[in-house]
Parts: sequence; structure tokens; C-alpha cells
Amino acid sequence: MHDQMANGQLSRAEALAFSGYRHACHVMLYSDTKSLLFGRTPIKHVILMQMRFDGLLGFPGGFVNQSQESLEAGLCRELQEELGVALSISEDDHVDARHAPRTAPCSPRLITHFYVKKLTEEQIKEVEQASASTARDHGQEVLGMVRVPLYTTKNGGGLSSFLSHAFIGNARTQLLDSLLRLRLLAPEDLHKALKHSMKTHAHSAGDLQAALALTAAKRDQS
Ligand code: AMP
Ligand code: MN
Repeated sequence: MHDQMANGQLSRAEALAFSGYRHACHVMLYSDTKSLLFGRTPIKHVILMQMRFDGLLGFPGGFVNQSQESLEAGLCRELQEELGVALSISEDDHVDARHAPRTAPCSPRLITHFYVKKLTEEQIKEVEQASASTARDHGQEVLGMVRVPLYTTKNGGGLSSFLSHAFIGNARTQLLDSLLRLRLLAPEDLHKALKHSMKTHAHSAGDLQAALALTAAKRDQS
């Protein structure tokens, strides 16, 4: 059988050797930036993610029609639909492939591929503009593009709060792996942010409990 790399990771070639699987491709588009938040906090890098139709954060991309197109051609088609721009993503930009956990016993087997592509800050801004204007999927499959805050604010917000949101599939892990691999963030800073995310997460759970109790009371009144 196939030689699997560590922790379930597959090479592009290994992934394509599996038959009877669907393939989905997503990409992290990012750039460097010299801009400052409030004129003092370096933003350092612009990383694009999106708020999806299902309310989850994820990377742009989607299912590939394997009988008609290569992985990269399928990814570019999805990017055209979701972002409204033609971007060239190549095999060299492929960084990871793995089996997606099955959501139901009868759901089709899926392999997810992840790509990373560095753009200029100008190109990132063009993507953001097109995605909110000419992109076909705007307001439908894609509710909006978002930038990932990499800094930590005085009260511990920023990256930690961003990471405490809900993500599709393994998008959070893909983001964290990329931050470390591309050295966009120091491991100790990421560790600190994640520790704070756990607190934010616990606070959110408390918030939701309170909201639940409030709506239960309203429901019982009516
Ligand atoms: P999409 O068409 O973008 O929803 O993606 C196709 C499939 O890939 C869906 O079934 C998602 O569950 C899955 N998926 C979407 N984004 C990611 C991601 N970042 N990592 C892993 N799987 C994903
Ligand atoms: Mn998509």
C-alpha cells in the first residue's frame, strides 16, 4: 500500500493514487505588510480566510471535478468563483494532503489538499476588492473575506480571540501549521495566544449558557 508520512499526511502523488475518493483543495493566500495597527502595532502579515455560508471560518477553495480538471485547475476555478480573480496556483504550492474524517458512515470519502501562496500586499488588496464586488459567490457561499490578526492586544485579544472561533474541517490546524512552518509567528507567541484562546473559549461557553437561559425564559413566556 501507500507509504504514509507522519500523522496521516499524504504527498500529492500518494493522495492521487487513491481511487474512489473526492478531492477538495484550499489555499492560504498571504503577504508581508509594513502597516501598523493604531499607528504602533506591527501587523506583519496579511493572511486571508473567509466566513463561509455555514458560519465557519475556512480557506478559499472547494471540490475538484477530478474527471475534468487537475487539482490546481479545480482550485483556480473555485478561487475565480469565490474571490473573483484569476490566480495561478501550481503543484509547487501544494503543502499537505490528508483524509478528511467522515461526517457520516454513508458520506463520500474525501481527501483535502492544502496550498500556500505568497502574494504582494497590492495583490491581496485586489483579491479583497474583487471578492466583495465581482465574485460570483459573494453573499452566497462566501459571506466575506477576513484577515487573520497575528498580534496580541493589551488585554490579550487579537490572534487568541480569532483562534477561539469555529473553523471548518482542519482549517485551524492548517493555519497554525502554516504560521510555524513559514515562520510568520514565533512558537512561544503562538503558545501564549492559544492558552488565552482556551480562556476566551470558556468565557464564550458561559455567554452561550446565559443566552440559552434567556431564550428559554422568553420561549416559555410566549
Ligand atoms: P468547500 O466546497 O469549500 O465547502 O469544501 C469542500 C469540502 O472540503 C467540504 O466538505 C468541507 O468540509 C471541506 N473543507 C473546507 N475547507 C476545509 C479546510 N480548510 N480544511 C479541510 N477541509 C475543508
Ligand atoms: Mn469553498
